[in-house]
Amino acid sequence: MGIRVELLRALTKSENSIKAIEGMDTLEISTDSRQKVENSLFIPIVGEYFDGHDHLFEAKENGAVAALWQEGKPVPRDLEQDFPLFFVEDTLVGLQTLATMHRHDVAPIVIGITGSNGKTTTKEIVASLLSSTYKVHKTKGNLNNHIGVPLTLLAMPADCEVCVLEMGMNHFGEISLLSQIAEPDVSIITNIGESHIEFLGSRAGIAKAKLEILEGMKQEGTLIIDGDEPLLTQAEAIGKNRITCGYGSSNDYVISSLQTKSEGSVFTVNGKSYNMPLLGAHNVKNTTYAIALAYKLHLTEPVIEDKLKRLESTSMRLETLSGKLGTLLINDAYNASPTSMKAAVDTVKQLSGFKKRVIVLGDMYELGDDEEALHREVAEVITEPITQVITIGEKAQWIADECRRIEQSTLEVISFSKKEEALPLLFDQLGRDTVMLFKASRLAGLETLIDALKDGG
Ligand code: ATP
Ligand code: MG
Repeated sequence: MGIRVELLRALTKSENSIKAIEGMDTLEISTDSRQKVENSLFIPIVGEYFDGHDHLFEAKENGAVAALWQEGKPVPRDLEQDFPLFFVEDTLVGLQTLATMHRHDVAPIVIGITGSNGKTTTKEIVASLLSSTYKVHKTKGNLNNHIGVPLTLLAMPADCEVCVLEMGMNHFGEISLLSQIAEPDVSIITNIGESHIEFLGSRAGIAKAKLEILEGMKQEGTLIIDGDEPLLTQAEAIGKNRITCGYGSSNDYVISSLQTKSEGSVFTVNGKSYNMPLLGAHNVKNTTYAIALAYKLHLTEPVIEDKLKRLESTSMRLETLSGKLGTLLINDAYNASPTSMKAAVDTVKQLSGFKKRVIVLGDMYELGDDEEALHREVAEVITEPITQVITIGEKAQWIADECRRIEQSTLEVISFSKKEEALPLLFDQLGRDTVMLFKASRLAGLETLIDALKDGG
C-alpha cells in the first residue's frame, strides 16, 4: 500500500533526501499530524489558521519517516540531520502533483462525479454496483475538495481497478483543477441546482462551472449527464461522447413507470424493470447514471439488478426510519437547497398509502441575495396530497408565508422559530397512516427531532 517512493524523485531536487529513503519501497501519505500513519510521508499544508509545518514532530511521533517541506519555511533546529525533507515550492501543489503521479502509476478507471446535488449518493451507488466486478476505491464521506480529492487518489491501493471520486466546488476554476488532478475517464454531472449561486451568478454559471470537469477528462472519455437539464444538453462543451439519462423520452437512458413505495422505488430504464430501497425520483435518476456506467463497463443485467435491490440508503439522505406508533419518518436533514427540498416534497407526494403527509422544513443557507425568493419558490410544490407543512426558523417562515398566500384549503401551515417548539405538535400526528419528512440545511440540526420521534427514541 502507499505510493512508490520513486515518485518523489520527479517532484523534488532534494537529492540527499532521495538517498536517505533509498531501499524503501512505498510510503503512506499523511496530512494530519494527529493521525497515526506508520511509514508515512507527512505533507504539511498551510491553512488560513494553521500551518502543518509547525507539527512535524507530532507527525514523526505518529509514524512519519519523511516530509515534504515548503521552500522558505524554517526547518526546526532540533530536527535530526538524517530525517529526509523534500523541498517543494508549495506543499499543496506537491500533494496534488503526487496524486496525479500515483493515479498514472495505478492507472485505474477514474470516475469523477460532480453536480449541485446527489454527488455522494451517486458515488455510493456507482461504487456499490461496480464493486460486484471490479476492485473499487472511493471518496470517503464527503472529502470532495482540493485536498480531499488528492488524498483519496493517494490512498488508492496498487491493485485498484476503479476509483470513484466525488468532486465538489463553490467557485469557478475548482472543478477544473480537480479534473486536471484526477484525469477522469468518465465524468458524471448529476444535476444543476442553486447551491453556491452567490459565487456563480446564475444557474447557467453553475452549469458552466460543473462542465469544467471536461477540462481534465481523458480525450476519449465519456460524460454522463442529466439529460433533462437543457443547460447541460445544449452546452457546446459536452462533445460527442456523452450519455444522457432522465425522464424525457429523448434521453439515451429513459426512466419511466416510477412507483414510490415505503419500502423503496420500482421503475423501468429503457423498458427494463428495477427496484431498490432508495426513495425519490432524483435518486432514481442518480441510480440511472450508475446503470448507464455499469453497462458501459460491461456489468451484466442480473448483476446490476441484484446489486440495486441490496443498496443501502446513505445516512440522512431521504433515509426512511420507523417512527413511534408505526409512523414513517423520512430523514433528509443532511443538507438542503431549493432543488433538493422540492425533490424531497415531491417524494412524499408520490408515496402510496398515507392519509397524513407532514413536511417539516427548516432554513436553507448560502443562497445569496435571492434567498427569500428561493425559499418562497418551494411553496409551489407544497400541494395536495401534502396535509401539513411545519416550518422552523426565520428563513423557512418565507415558505410558510407563501403557502398561506397561495391559500389551499386542504393544507395546514404552521411556523415555529425554534425546532423544540414543534415537538408536541409532531407527537400528536404520530400514527400508522402518517409520513413525516424532515428537510433543512445541516446547520438547522433537524435530526434531533427525528431522534425524539423514532421508534425507541
Ligand atoms: P454535498 O454538496 O453536500 O456534498 P451532494 O451533492 O453530495 O451534497 P447528496 O449528499 O448525495 O448530495 O444529497 C444531498 C441532497 O440532495 C439530498 O437531500 C437529496 O435529497 C438531494 N438530491 C440528491 N440527488 C439529487 C438530484 N439528482 N437532483 C436533485 N436533488 C438531489
Ligand atoms: Mg457530498
